Amino acid sequence: MRCAHWPRVPLDLARKAREKSAATYIDRAVQCQLSAHGEGEHFGLLTDAGAYGTALWLRWHGADEAELVVLPDCPVAAPAPDGEGCCLFVDHANQHTWEDALEEVSCIS
Ligand SMILES: [Zn+2]
Ligand SMILES: [Zn+2]
Repeated sequence: MRCAHWPRVPLDLARKAREKSAATYIDRAVQCQLSAHGEGEHFGLLTDAGAYGTALWLRWHGADEAELVVLPDCPVAAPAPDGEGCCLFVDHANQHTWEDALEEVSCIS
């Protein structure tokens, strides 16, 4: 199960995200990409249009201010030939996206 947090992206952060990443479009709302988790920080993928091997994430915690963070991609792929890559960032908590077999997960690209 994916985390159900799906906040709106503050307009000023969406603008900053476009400036940082050269992306032409930033979603107005992003869903937390982690598997359902009870506490801790949430991470929504804004764009992977930045430097190779990194992505721009929106990080938030409860009702606190959200912030932009640039994080390297998670390098861990599923242990199978042609194993799926993980859609998250390096050192994330919880499962890799490909471990979450209850639901089809596709990376935004
Ligand atoms: Zn979350
Ligand atoms: Zn991962």
